[in-house]
Amino acid sequence: MEYKREDIPFRPEYKELETRSEKTILLIYKKNHMLLLKARKNVEAPDEKEHPELKKGIKEKFFMGYFREVPCYCTEWQEKVPIPEAFEWVYLNDASWIGDKNFFFTCVRGRTFLNWHHASRFCGYCGEQTTFKEDERAKRCLGCGNVSYPHIAPAIIVGVTKGDKLLLAHNANFPEGLYSIIAGYVEQGESLEQAVRREVEEEVGIKVKNIKYYGSTPWYNGDSLMLGFTAEYESGEITVDHEEIVDANWYDKDNFPILPSPISIAHQIITDLLGLSK
Ligand SMILES: [Zn+2]
Repeated sequence: MEYKREDIPFRPEYKELETRSEKTILLIYKKNHMLLLKARKNVEAPDEKEHPELKKGIKEKFFMGYFREVPCYCTEWQEKVPIPEAFEWVYLNDASWIGDKNFFFTCVRGRTFLNWHHASRFCGYCGEQTTFKEDERAKRCLGCGNVSYPHIAPAIIVGVTKGDKLLLAHNANFPEGLYSIIAGYVEQGESLEQAVRREVEEEVGIKVKNIKYYGSTPWYNGDSLMLGFTAEYESGEITVDHEEIVDANWYDKDNFPILPSPISIAHQIITDLLGLSK
């Protein structure tokens, strides 16, 4: 099984060169929401040249590269400025993105770019200011010259099966009624397979076998790279800590709770393992 999606038509660049494109895409964020045109048929970011009224609301903008050969910038909205009438905020986890996954993953790039920029204004070694490098996605310290790269945190996510049943758990941070598969960050010095075994055992108290790689996807929360796996139940009884995981159980295709957003790899793994994929 593979988590399939089209190749992303995004070309990262670090310094904007002269372009013949008449358009400019502006990815505008407010936390995990994006400013999009209300009248969009699908998901559509504003063209800066078509919407000069956006200038009064945006903060400093950063060049990211080209989306379908159109120069692409990311920025944030100033909190006190009202948004123009033609626009609305759309949550990054909204199901409407399913119509254009390529654009969604470009928006994930923008969000994580800004997260990185905010967290790396100053050097972690000497405390001096940093500046963007022009030949790669990195920053150089103006004091000691240290070069730092964007922070990407690998996290495993695993669908555990027992016959035709799938383990789903409700995390304390989830919206009410929503269940998903087990996930967690990889520890330093740990292999992905070890992370899968450890997370499943820590969160629901069972052992798993036959761990297989499924596919991966970038995600905007925690700047993570989600590495999907499938595994089979080996032994143990489900026990939850009632702190991180509130409830967990085995579900089948005729009986399952509310699932995560269709844009997520969790949803893809769950529907595949339950045999619900179209
Ligand atoms: Zn430094």
